[in-house]
Amino acid sequence: MAQRIVVAGGGYAGLAALAKLLNEPGARLTLVDSEPGHTLIPELPEALSPGKQVSRRVVSYDHLLKDARVSRIADAIVSINCAQRWLSLGSGEQVAFDWLILAVGTVPAFPHIAGLQKFALPLKSAKDTERIKRHIDRRANQTVVIVGGGLTGIEIAGVLVSRHRVSVVEGSTRLLPGLGPGLAAYAHRRLETAGVHFHLGSQLSEVTADHVIAGEHRLNYDVLIWAGGIEPPGWLRDTDLPLDSQGYPVGDDTGEVADQIYVAGDLWRIRGYDKRWIPQTAQLAEQAGAYVGTVIGRRLHHDYPLPTFHPRLRGMLVALNPGKGVGWVYHGGLAVQGYSARWMKRMVFRQYRRGLARAFGHVWPK
Ligand SMILES: Cc1cc2nc3c(=O)[nH]c(=O)nc-3n(C[C@H](O)[C@H](O)[C@H](O)COP(=O)(O)OP(=O)(O)OC[C@H]3O[C@@H](n4cnc5c(N)ncnc54)[C@H](O)[C@@H]3O)c2cc1C
Repeated sequence: MAQRIVVAGGGYAGLAALAKLLNEPGARLTLVDSEPGHTLIPELPEALSPGKQVSRRVVSYDHLLKDARVSRIADAIVSINCAQRWLSLGSGEQVAFDWLILAVGTVPAFPHIAGLQKFALPLKSAKDTERIKRHIDRRANQTVVIVGGGLTGIEIAGVLVSRHRVSVVEGSTRLLPGLGPGLAAYAHRRLETAGVHFHLGSQLSEVTADHVIAGEHRLNYDVLIWAGGIEPPGWLRDTDLPLDSQGYPVGDDTGEVADQIYVAGDLWRIRGYDKRWIPQTAQLAEQAGAYVGTVIGRRLHHDYPLPTFHPRLRGMLVALNPGKGVGWVYHGGLAVQGYSARWMKRMVFRQYRRGLARAFGHVWPK
C-alpha cells in the first residue's frame, strides 16, 4: 500500500524534499501550507522598492504543482500528534500520515520589550512585506528605524534609504555577523555614505507608538521595522515532539525527531564542524530538505546504510542597494563586493527559480 508522506510547509526545505520524492512509486504525497504559494523570502526586501510587486516573489502552488502528483491542503497546521500520527489543521480537520516532513520554518522572535510586538513590523512573509510597503509608500521622507543589523535589516536599510531617513539599531558593536569584519565594514561604509545612521552597541529597552529608546538614544520614528531574530513557532510546544530549550525540534543526525517524522529547513538546527550553529539560510534549508527527501526515499526501499548529511554553505551575499552588494562565495574562498556581488546575488535567485521549474516540470510565468 502507498505510504502517506505529508510535507508540512512548502518553503525552501519542503519543496526540495518533495522534489526528491516526486517519482517515488510507493508514496502518496501531500503538501500542507497555510499560504497559496511558495514565498521567495530572500527576494522580499527588494520588493520594498517603488514599483516592485510582492506578488512576483510568490510562486502559486496551483501553478507550480499542477503537473505533479502532489495533493495540496491549504490550511494552517495547529498541532501534531507524533504518537497517533496525525496533524490537525485550523479548520479542525485531522490529516493522518505514515511519514511527516516538518518544514514550517520559523517566525519573528520578539524579546520581552514592552510595545515591541505591538508597534514594530517584522519582515518574514509576503504579507509582512505588503504591510511595510503600505506604510513606507504613504509619503517620502519618513523616519524609519530598523532594529537589527543582520542580513535582513541591512538589506531593508539599503532599499529604503533613497526615499526615507533610515536608522539601524544593533545591540552588538558590528553589523552582519555572517560576514568577516572587513566585508561588514564595507557594508557599513557604503550604507553610511548613502545616508543610513547606525547606532551600534545600542540595546533596545523601550518602544512606544512614536519612539524607541536604544542605549543612550531616543529615536523618533514614523515606521519601526523589527529584524532582530527568528524562533520556532510557539504551537510546537503544545505537541509531543522532543524540543530543545529554545523550542526547536531535536532530531538525530538524519533529522528524524520521532519514528518516521523528520524536520528540515530553518527548524532543523545544525552545528558545523566547528560545533557552532550554522546560520539558517535558504541554501541550508534546500540542502536539508533534499537530504531528508532522499533519506525517506531510501528507507521506503530499505536501502541502507543511509547517507550522511554534509551541509555546505556555498556563499553568503548581501544586497546593498542601489546596485551593489557584499559577501563571499566558493565556500568562503572568495570575498566579493560592489556590482559583482549584487550581480551574483541576482544570479543565485535566478538559478533557484530555474531549479524549481525543472524539478516540478513547470514553466515560469513571464
Ligand atoms: C528578509 C529575509 C531575507 C533573507 N535572505 C536570505 C538570503 O539572501 N539568502 C539565504 O540563503 N537565506 C535568506 N533568508 C533566510 C531564508 O529565507 C530561510 O532560511 C528559508 O526561507 C528557510 O526555509 P524553510 O523551508 O525552513 O522555511 P520557509 O521558507 O519559511 O517556509 C516555511 C513554509 O511553511 C509554511 N507554514 C508556516 N507555518 C505553517 C503552518 N502552521 N501550517 C502550514 N504551513 C505553514 C509557510 O507558509 C512557508 O511556505 C532570508 C530571510 C529573511 C526573513
